[in-house]
Amino acid sequence: MAFHGPGRQAVCGNLFPGSEIGQKYFCVNPSGAGSASAGLTATPAPGGPSAPAGTIGGGAAVPQPHSNPASEVPSPAEMEPDRPIGYGAFGVVWSVTDPRDGRKVALKKMPNVFQNLVSCKRVFRELRMLCFFKHDNVLSALDILQPPQIDCFEEIYVITELMQSDLHKVIVSPQPLTTDHIKVFLYQILRGLKYLHSAGILHRDIKPGNLLVNSNCLLKICDFGLARVEEPDPSRHMTQEVVTQYYRAPEVLMGSRHYGPAIDMWSVGCIFAELLGRRILFQAQSPIQQLDLITDLLGTPPLSAMASACEGARAHILRGPHKPPSLSVLYMLSEGATHEAVHLLCRMLVFDPAKRISGSDALSHPYLDEGRLRYHTCMCQCCYSVPSGRVYTRDFEPSAERPFSHSYEQSMLSVWQGKELIHRFITEHQQGKRVPLCINPQSAAFKTFIRSTAWHSSKVSRKEER
Ligand SMILES: [Zn+2]
Repeated sequence: MAFHGPGRQAVCGNLFPGSEIGQKYFCVNPSGAGSASAGLTATPAPGGPSAPAGTIGGGAAVPQPHSNPASEVPSPAEMEPDRPIGYGAFGVVWSVTDPRDGRKVALKKMPNVFQNLVSCKRVFRELRMLCFFKHDNVLSALDILQPPQIDCFEEIYVITELMQSDLHKVIVSPQPLTTDHIKVFLYQILRGLKYLHSAGILHRDIKPGNLLVNSNCLLKICDFGLARVEEPDPSRHMTQEVVTQYYRAPEVLMGSRHYGPAIDMWSVGCIFAELLGRRILFQAQSPIQQLDLITDLLGTPPLSAMASACEGARAHILRGPHKPPSLSVLYMLSEGATHEAVHLLCRMLVFDPAKRISGSDALSHPYLDEGRLRYHTCMCQCCYSVPSGRVYTRDFEPSAERPFSHSYEQSMLSVWQGKELIHRFITEHQQGKRVPLCINPQSAAFKTFIRSTAWHSSKVSRKEER
């Protein structure tokens, strides 16, 4: 998607020049498109819409009656074999071909769902969120694979859009990152985050690796394994086992028992600085050193900024030498660290969460004006072009239509009950939609998939959260 605005250089599309994408991020297999397969099969649902079944990767792409004709010709990247693309604490992600239209999509297995009630609730929450999201800068579920009968129901597979890379890979790569790139990325991060926060959702693990990007610079926030609904009652305790350490807000580092959307904004500030300087802003060995690096930059916080901190953390700060702020070093991050950029950055990197800028206020900062213009001129889905020019949307940064509700969790009192609820949710979610997909357990690639999944699942041990 190229940029067509007058007097402006193309930035969208320059990040990973097209021909490199295949070699860099996918195994190209021009001779046998999809000879390996994760074994997905499309099956007509009983009573559902009828269409011929197809098998993923077998060359039997089944065009849908209403599909876009342009989408029926797969690009070279879409003809590559199925393969694993990522391993996270909460699942394994594979790149697979959807047999219904031949498109490459991401398939995620949510592991250990029914181990206990806490994991059952966590996975159901993530699943419901993925189905709830309707925003171009937030990854959402395109489909959920048809579950087997409830007695055999052990795993959940979700299909999402396949993205080519993530911001961590971009930052550590030798690819040039211009101010235009940084502005359009930051704009989209904040745009997505404003939407999440307006739905009452805290992401709690915003980091470059959880910001997926495409070659046209489109960005989507992903991984909602740690996300939860905002807690309005300040007396209710929330887990401190959140956010990758480098991006963890000072209030969490200081043992605050209650926190809000400001923790995500702190992470965005760290990422903004990382985009400018192309290195991690606060890269410490331990949480205490992490806090020390933060106070080295921001100076010793006043007592009022540590109101929610635990006693030990407050004593640690007060015991140390008094540090003056040294924010002027932010100008040395790079040439892109202009006065405007540093001004916005300093509004994000505020020790006191009550005084930290919100997502929607950050979007009003003049630093983001160009990113907004660029995004809505050549990248968005909400505006469109007519022969006489561009027709812009009325709301550039929409909020969620309604808050995300987690009231269903109250009725989940046992693992078996959870299983029934999730099974029903998936079945109802699919009704009347596309031809359902399911796993073909006989396929060789599926066996590979399961092996890698089992291996990674066994390595994962993570404290469950509240
Ligand atoms: Zn738009």
